Amino acid sequence: METIAREAHLKPPAGPEAFAHKNIRQGEFWRAIPKYREIDEATFLDHIWQGQHSIKSPDELLETVSGLVDGAFIDDVRDGFARAPMAVRVSPYMIASVNWEHPYDDPIRTQFIPLGSKLKADHPRLTHDSLHELEDSPVPGLTHRYVDKALFLPLNVCPVYCRFCTRSYAIGADTDVVEKVSLAKTPKQWNDAFAYIASRPELEDIVISGGDSYQLAPKNILAIGDALLAIPHVRRLRFATKGPAVMPSKILTDTAWTDAICSVVDKGRKLGKEVVIHTHFNSPNEISWITQKALDVFFQRGVTVRNQTVLIRGVNDDPTTMQLLVKRLGYINVHPYYVYMHDLVKGVEDLRTTVQTSLDVEKFVRGSTAGFNTPTFICDAPGGGGKRDVHSFDYYDRENGIVVYSAPSVKPGQHFVYFDPIDTLAPDAVARWHAPAIAEEMIAEAVAKAGGPRSYVQA
Ligand code: SF4
Repeated sequence: METIAREAHLKPPAGPEAFAHKNIRQGEFWRAIPKYREIDEATFLDHIWQGQHSIKSPDELLETVSGLVDGAFIDDVRDGFARAPMAVRVSPYMIASVNWEHPYDDPIRTQFIPLGSKLKADHPRLTHDSLHELEDSPVPGLTHRYVDKALFLPLNVCPVYCRFCTRSYAIGADTDVVEKVSLAKTPKQWNDAFAYIASRPELEDIVISGGDSYQLAPKNILAIGDALLAIPHVRRLRFATKGPAVMPSKILTDTAWTDAICSVVDKGRKLGKEVVIHTHFNSPNEISWITQKALDVFFQRGVTVRNQTVLIRGVNDDPTTMQLLVKRLGYINVHPYYVYMHDLVKGVEDLRTTVQTSLDVEKFVRGSTAGFNTPTFICDAPGGGGKRDVHSFDYYDRENGIVVYSAPSVKPGQHFVYFDPIDTLAPDAVARWHAPAIAEEMIAEAVAKAGGPRSYVQA
């Protein structure tokens, strides 16, 4: 009797889709790229070789993938480069992770290599620094928005440049269409930032970003770690880096950098302070055996790694791709922490998607795995409202793509407005956006329906 009852409750065996996240790319996959055909494993993993062979121009790309793409594609790339607000830099690891049989649809190509044919006009309400980081900046290179947290930006370079970068106003070299703002790059500016943090006892949590902590020399990682850990009220540090996603082998071959990070983590732990890495994977295709091996180093040395994904059209905005990414991250001991709505950034309207998409993807992903490995889907409210749970809008006008948020603990009494990309709206709604007086009126109406006065913070 007992056997029969147990069988009745037996869950059927999982199908192959339940194991897809473990299907991580193996072997010397880079040899499929003509330029890397003769490159051995030791050379490909070398972080110096990766940096020296990063692609910065259409000609370098053509030389690297020659024979894999046709002339029309390269012409499209040239057009995309000429119109990009962000400098272009793509590591060999990323080039080797693209499926060059389908470059137009590839999620990694989409993030790093602009194509003129894919570009769309910016949303009429888009501004340069939509998160208003510069307005909340008491000294150069430091943003203090949340009561207990500050963002320290000690450099403006990264191992790659992402088309969708929120800080495209400051990161990388000037381009034909954008002149960049300076972050805190000199020792005096660093000391000014540390002095400000020391003067504000409410600051417990410091994010070290940029730019990207991957590009900080080991001695600077140690100097920043020492300076911040010495401030009694600072309790938590986060080094933000996209490196593990785009050049994971550096963790294996730049042992001085890895040791510096681990040393700050260990020092923090002895002081009862948490030091972690925040990284940025967007596609399950970014994760290979190299990534797994590199992240095993951090796991074995007791370093917590959390991930912040951006929801990007054509990259991860379908539920099964996001589910695969979340499960693969959990599998390699990276906590999937946040999925952000794409910020309102210049020149990348083709990459943004709607808040409704985020709601739908979140609904599908939740329940696929343990809650602690399930990300929170958020919108960083334009105009400086900070991060809001994407579901927590006060009003969503889906017809015109207007989403109204408030942030009682950050900026009480104010409303912040996020806009869906207008090419996703019906033609009559698109026409309304092109009539400034009508557009202003429909935003004010949405804010009023959210329960506030008709005013809102301009992005
Ligand atoms: S690595 Fe980060 S800071 Fe650098 S370009 Fe990409 S998103 Fe921006």
